[in-house]
Amino acid sequence: MRTPVIAGNWKLYKTAGQALELVGGLLPLVAQTKGVEIVVAPVFTVLGKVAEALAGSNIHLSAQDCFWEEEGAFTGEISSTMLIDAGCSHVIIGHSERRQFFGETDATVNKKIKAAIKAGLTVLFCIGETLQEREGDQTFDVLRRQVTQGLRDLSQEQLKKVIIAYEPVWAIGTGKTATDSQAQEAHQFIRGVIAGLYDKDAAEEMRILYGGSVKPENIGGLMAQADIDGALVGGASLKADSFAAIAKLG
Ligand code: PEP
Repeated sequence: MRTPVIAGNWKLYKTAGQALELVGGLLPLVAQTKGVEIVVAPVFTVLGKVAEALAGSNIHLSAQDCFWEEEGAFTGEISSTMLIDAGCSHVIIGHSERRQFFGETDATVNKKIKAAIKAGLTVLFCIGETLQEREGDQTFDVLRRQVTQGLRDLSQEQLKKVIIAYEPVWAIGTGKTATDSQAQEAHQFIRGVIAGLYDKDAAEEMRILYGGSVKPENIGGLMAQADIDGALVGGASLKADSFAAIAKLG
């Protein structure tokens, strides 16, 4: 049995006061929610404060990125060890916005995943095709490449610390959700790639989240699919009531 994960990516939103207000609204709404791993990913500057607000609750704290070195002359970067020090248990790596705007590649994603796991973090590893790639019938080639290169050199034991988030780029922040069957088809394919790279057990254990305009109205249909194990939520995670409704899995 794979425990579902509902993760909120707050992107570049929420000052400290706003973040604490959101957490304050969310905590009572999900306090009784069991059997779901709930995660929120605020900006770096508010991680410590949000960690304090979440202490003892059923909500896990994630960062939105990390660097692969532990320390050194790398101005502007933050290491996995520092994220743990700030109270994080999870980190998002390879989000399409980082690939698109900040030059993230499969190779840098792989370095970051390895460093994060070594430090003890659980990784929310994002993959997904662009609209151009989907229309050019390249979706499965892109997903295979991203999974294979992103997970390169990871042992089966290390793989247990990875959660994959399939986020078709054309569905992120656009209001266009993949249909339940489009998402299921991609998730089933990704699980097959994991089986090929590792084995059937590793594939069965892997949690694969869907991301892209997830809302309270569409989470139920997505969760009803055999290979969808939760969601990475952007816009709808910025309001306590909508994120809590999603965390209840529809
Ligand atoms: C995301 O940021 O990962 C995301 C899926 O955003 P949205 O839910 O707004 O499409």
